[in-house]
Amino acid sequence: IFHVILTSIQRRGQIDGFVAVVRDVTEQEQLDQARRDFVSNVSHELRTPLTTVKSYIEVLRDLDDDEHATRQEFLGVIAEETDRMVRLTRDLLQLSGLDRGGPRAFALKLLHVQPLLAGVAQRFALQASRQQLTYRVHATEPSLAVYGDADMVNRVLDNLISNALKYTAPGGEIEVRVKVAGEFVTFAVSDNGIGIPAEDLPHVFERFYRVEKGRSRRRGGTGLGLALAREMVERMGGEIRIVSEPNRGTTVYVSLRRAEEAIV
Ligand code: ADP
Repeated sequence: IFHVILTSIQRRGQIDGFVAVVRDVTEQEQLDQARRDFVSNVSHELRTPLTTVKSYIEVLRDLDDDEHATRQEFLGVIAEETDRMVRLTRDLLQLSGLDRGGPRAFALKLLHVQPLLAGVAQRFALQASRQQLTYRVHATEPSLAVYGDADMVNRVLDNLISNALKYTAPGGEIEVRVKVAGEFVTFAVSDNGIGIPAEDLPHVFERFYRVEKGRSRRRGGTGLGLALAREMVERMGGEIRIVSEPNRGTTVYVSLRRAEEAIV
């Protein structure tokens, strides 16, 4: 898309010539469109739970005092929808924080891998066993370290493991492994769950992209988990990749730069 500004040059009231300024505004136009889409997505994502909450409150108002079970059920729905809005606003705040901070807004630190893995092992063990999933986090050698930001690495891994939990049926397996390849340390989070169709795979890192809207929503998804993960990984100078096959499972690889332990 080009914008052309045409100006005439006048001398003593007579047109003497023209100047044309041609500007390529394709990129600006695309940015504006992305921003409009984003705002409309956010509005929609908030509107849906709000509408649900409002209608349940209206029914609750008219409920007789003895309808205890119904009241509890409706309050449960309201609590769930409120949780969804809390998650969504949390993810949005994280994204806007990433958008604001320049590439050097934070310093990368040397992080030992083993304690990070111990953390994710612990945080998800209970939920995995409740969902009858086998959850394995493989240990690494204690000296292995990466350059990163501990909060971000934890949030990335949490998002990936949450997805594995969301999209794997009971009886399935979730594994977290770490491999060293040259200058990089790669975390792999894999599941043998429902997988992702090939045509959707290139889009799953886009904000609000969901393979199946209904299913993601039912499982509490915001559609922002992978977008956030990618932005955080890239912010740390790393790379994220996804490999998936429907009905076989999904593996997400996160590579961060390997750190040599400082010699004191
Ligand atoms: P959501 O909050 O919907 O899970 P994400 O950004 O985390 O959003 O993921 C985008 C979409 O990618 C999801 O809606 C889901 O369809 C698909 N997806 C992500 N991780 C997995 C996985 N481990 N197994 C199957 N599908 C997945």
